[in-house]
Amino acid sequence: IFCMIMENLEKFASKKYGQNFLRDDRYLKKIIEAMPDDNLPVVEIGPGLGDLTKSLLEARSNVTAFEVDGRLCRHLKDEFADFTEQNRFSLECCDVLDAWGKNELLDIEYALVANLPYYIATAIILKALADVRCRYIVVMVQKEVAQKFAADVENRSFCALSVLVQSCAEAQICFDVPPEAFVPSPKVYSAVLKIEKRCSVKDRGFEDFLRVAFAQPRKMLLKNLSQKYDKQSIERSLEMQRLSFTLRPHQVATASYHQLYKDIKREKIDAKRDKQRPEQPREKI
Ligand code: SAM
Repeated sequence: IFCMIMENLEKFASKKYGQNFLRDDRYLKKIIEAMPDDNLPVVEIGPGLGDLTKSLLEARSNVTAFEVDGRLCRHLKDEFADFTEQNRFSLECCDVLDAWGKNELLDIEYALVANLPYYIATAIILKALADVRCRYIVVMVQKEVAQKFAADVENRSFCALSVLVQSCAEAQICFDVPPEAFVPSPKVYSAVLKIEKRCSVKDRGFEDFLRVAFAQPRKMLLKNLSQKYDKQSIERSLEMQRLSFTLRPHQVATASYHQLYKDIKREKIDAKRDKQRPEQPREKI
């Protein structure tokens, strides 16, 4: 199978599954070097031809891989048969997002290390941030996506994704990877992103709030938020935090977003309670 695949890798690669195979050993080595020094079990999403899997198995004792393409699964089963026998490698041939929707990827703590399929990279990272078992993430993604996750306040790339990461983790871009390192070459530059988690958070309300805050990134934050939330509550919270009404969304720090969200939510609850409170009987004079 392997020979047939390798004869025409360009033709074999499926665009639908975001297959760009990393064929440069230098970058494989650098991905392993970027991992923190521990021996956590590794989850790899999209092992493809198994190049990164091989490096991971040289460096760590246990790898669980999720691959959606049945053609690649057949090759991987052959290639890693010995490791499977030694209980060091297991392969799940399925769509990882389906698997994650039904169950945990692993029922013990793990590290996520992968050259991700770019069309679902953001969804995978957000899932991993919310997954309590996932301790850290070292993943290759499109460079622009890595910049969004790792951006700091005031940076032009600072967005809802940056705020979500900063709420529970430290993120950094380890290194860039040029298109020529892959077969077939993608149109864009890639980068390896490392996210070390302090905790796991999943707060739908806060995520919706951030979506509104950054809906029009070049407009003022106050204007964006007023589309959905009470303008006076937002102004009061900004004032209390000594923040100008004219700030754009990328100029407001993560802690301030949390405070804004808390204040708006509290004022909403107070207003609702005041409305529901039965009218007090008038005092007779
Ligand atoms: N790890 C290999 C490498 O570094 O060369 C391949 C990386 S390639 C960018 C992405 C891989 O993810 C492909 O093998 C693709 O088939 C797989 N993939 C795409 N969508 C997937 C999904 N929903 N679930 C699991 N694997 C997926």
